[in-house]
Amino acid sequence: MGELPITRVVREMQNGKAISEMRHVPQTAFLTGKENIPENTFNGEIRLFSHEECLEDKLKQAKNFRVVEEQSNALHASRILQDVDDKTLVVNPPFPPMTEEEIDASFDLPYTRLPHPKYKNKQIAAYEMIKFSVNLHRGCFGGCAFCTISAHQGKFIASRSKESILREVEEITEMPGFKGYISDLGGPSANMYKMRGNDLSVCEKCRRPSCIHPGICPNLNTNHAPLLDIYRSVDSLPKIKKSFVGSGVRYDMLMHCGKDENANKAAQSRPRTHVRPYTPCDAQACV
Ligand code: SF4
Repeated sequence: MGELPITRVVREMQNGKAISEMRHVPQTAFLTGKENIPENTFNGEIRLFSHEECLEDKLKQAKNFRVVEEQSNALHASRILQDVDDKTLVVNPPFPPMTEEEIDASFDLPYTRLPHPKYKNKQIAAYEMIKFSVNLHRGCFGGCAFCTISAHQGKFIASRSKESILREVEEITEMPGFKGYISDLGGPSANMYKMRGNDLSVCEKCRRPSCIHPGICPNLNTNHAPLLDIYRSVDSLPKIKKSFVGSGVRYDMLMHCGKDENANKAAQSRPRTHVRPYTPCDAQACV
């Protein structure tokens, strides 16, 4: 998730700025003397309990976490300050969710798709699992209490374009050992591709940790049609025998019946792509 801050930092360095002078780059944090906190150019500021206070009182640490979680999920977050020893930690708010162009630019880089060379000839279980899988989007608006995704990716979804996804699938089909099976067309939650609030001005003021719990927000567009289009397009590629969804599926959203008839219809239609491993795969499930 560091593409935007890294490119901003590098650009500023190319323009002759030292790292120590970069105090206003979103999504970066730095320690500074308590007397040297730079002027805030962001939307508001929140001071957390100090590190020392948290060591004394776990509840203060929990309250701090709540602030961090809420600010990670705000479209216009505040700058966060926390004292530690004789210094202050300054955490600048994140960049806005990546645009399709920005996220494509990152996913379209010429990755080797291989483990680090130091693992040469070793079998890595995690790599075997993701070798032939494709990440469609970032972010999750589920807001589950046990999960950190909302704290590092946020609840606003950044989705890749169909073209970028299909390019990656085509690349995978040329990889050694590929036998026609895509193990996952997924994301943090598989079925949130291209989903967001219909009226973003409402989302801008929203403080809900989850867009779907305890009930599906009436402002949320839950249309699965763009995702189904990806599944069908991948399945129609000549070198693909079968594709799977290996990421978690939010069934509550899939079963949701809202006011948008097109969205309801899309949620009821069935792609060939299989959901696993929660249901045993059998030929009958493949329509
Ligand atoms: S308004 Fe609804 S869709 Fe928008 S962020 Fe809040 S819960 Fe999610």
